[in-house]
Amino acid sequence: MIPYGKQDIQQKDIDAVIEVLTSDFLTQGPKVPAFESAVAEKVGAKHALAVNSATSALHIACLALGLGKGDWLWTTPVTFVASANCGLYCGAQVDFVDVDPKTYNISVNALKDKLEKASSEKRLPKVLVVVHLCGQPCQMQEIKLLADEYGVKVIEDASHAIGGKYQHDYIGNCKYSDITIFSFHPVKIITTAEGGMALTNSNELANKMNLFRSHGITRDPDSMTQEPDGSWYYQQVELGFNYRMTELQAALGLSQLDRLDEYVARRHELAKRYDSLLSTLPLTLPWQHPDSYSGLHLYVIRLNLSQVSATHREVFESLREQGIGVNLHYIPIHTQPYYQQFGFKAEDFPEAMSYYGEAISLPLFPTMSESEQDKVVKVLTKVVS
Ligand SMILES: *Cc1c(COP(=O)(O)O)cnc(C)c1O
Repeated sequence: MIPYGKQDIQQKDIDAVIEVLTSDFLTQGPKVPAFESAVAEKVGAKHALAVNSATSALHIACLALGLGKGDWLWTTPVTFVASANCGLYCGAQVDFVDVDPKTYNISVNALKDKLEKASSEKRLPKVLVVVHLCGQPCQMQEIKLLADEYGVKVIEDASHAIGGKYQHDYIGNCKYSDITIFSFHPVKIITTAEGGMALTNSNELANKMNLFRSHGITRDPDSMTQEPDGSWYYQQVELGFNYRMTELQAALGLSQLDRLDEYVARRHELAKRYDSLLSTLPLTLPWQHPDSYSGLHLYVIRLNLSQVSATHREVFESLREQGIGVNLHYIPIHTQPYYQQFGFKAEDFPEAMSYYGEAISLPLFPTMSESEQDKVVKVLTKVVS
């Protein structure tokens, strides 16, 4: 089976991890801060906090922004469940904004309309999580203007997008958001096995996220409510978690980071090749905004079903049966049984549903060979023709 995504582990990565294994620190040593500084410098953010997953990063980001009971978090229905669940973790309510038919990212027009309505009903969200689906950046400038107008905090879920650029700057610089999140799961652009990161330019948010990722405990006397009892003293000032990244993971991440640009460039080469090899098939190919440089985590096609004799499901299953490890990113969250308790109807977000009825993610990863790609194209051509 040709998988839809796959990590690339080289000898340099293995050596970096082994070096840590035989060092003094397996956790809470020098590699995590080194990885954080390297990513912050690479993308142009002031602070970076490494954690054990992007899911944890989303959680501490929401907590740091003060999300809680009685608040609303909005996101897109076309994303992984973690982008929405972080709101529920904080006791907030979650709602969605439909997607743009061209980019499949959150629709700026739908957002504008929904904010206007929510403003008049006095139920504006505290936090908006925008997702750079497939690595393609959202229209951050427009989103930031709306967020400022209505006093909404913005988190960029850039789990798909490290190495991508928005208006010529690396995603993660938080120019148009409060916090940006990366994921280092093995299918994503670079990996630490499990792992994630939260980036921000705010000292205050960085301090809060730092507390939440490690039990809410501080050793900094200035952050304590009383004089330390002695040099051993630490104080719990928040209810935090253990969301720390290990030294092994950070060493792997640092080693992978060296190849970030190379990986994204290779993804672009392969995507261009798909674009030309698939151009005559009854498919809608991914649209790339001319101002942006996608991280290209995913290459999502949509079937033009009126021109295909098989159904979406038949095409998907036939590809799988023939060794093409396609996937579907994502089942719109509002249709998940868990989210049904909140009263969503499938038709609440028609663009998301229309996307869901046609989308298929084709295999795309930096070590994919042209012959593997040719096999995908050959099988797909047969299935849809
Ligand atoms: C992968 C992913 C996450 C969660 O990442 P983990 O590191 O596995 O917790 C969150 N949001 C999106 C959009 C993702 O693709």
